[in-house]
Amino acid sequence: MDANDMGNDLKKVLLTEQQIQDRLAQMAEVIDKDYAGHEILLVGVLRGAVMVMADLARKLHTPVQMDWMAVSSYGSGTKSSGVVRILKDLDTDIKDRHVLIVEDIIDSGLTLSWLEANLRTRGCASLNIATLLRKPDAAKTNITPRYVGFDIPNEFVVGYGLDYAEKYRNLPFVGLLAPHVYEKH
Ligand code: 5GP
Ligand code: MG
Ligand code: MG
Repeated sequence: MDANDMGNDLKKVLLTEQQIQDRLAQMAEVIDKDYAGHEILLVGVLRGAVMVMADLARKLHTPVQMDWMAVSSYGSGTKSSGVVRILKDLDTDIKDRHVLIVEDIIDSGLTLSWLEANLRTRGCASLNIATLLRKPDAAKTNITPRYVGFDIPNEFVVGYGLDYAEKYRNLPFVGLLAPHVYEKH
């Protein structure tokens, strides 16, 4: 899917495919340095992190394994509450492993804050977070991702794994939707 498939649903491209890939390459370089001599267990948070995981993992030279979690956050409306339910747990025992959580976006940070605390109880050797996007609200939580792709404005974005009503995840870029898309619903 690209911008041509969107009719007039797209308001603006916020980050181009090239910008995303270039930034992920920079992040991979730093991660390779930081984890030199170790193996990494990449933990992707379904479903949004699929694209970041696929592209970041392929840019890494460090040996990695990949595992996935699915969580649902009980919230009212569009804001997450921080009360999280595990829909799919890891298949891997993370004890003594170097775990790197891979995320698409940190908004309130509540989901990730819960996830981080949960994984820490399992005795991993280290735990860090890599996220492609971060919104300003994330600063209000104690979440400190070690690797951040882009700080973006407080607007609802889609593409590159991020959905609106499960659509637009397969856009290669990150964009803003035209208001009429929301107003239809
Ligand atoms: P948080 O718990 O940090 O507030 O957000 C958790 C989840 O909300 C993210 O993993 C993502 O699925 C969703 N989310 C937050 N901001 C956006 C956004 O701008 N666009 C989309 N499509 N999803 C978002
Ligand atoms: Mg996510
Ligand atoms: Mg979503």
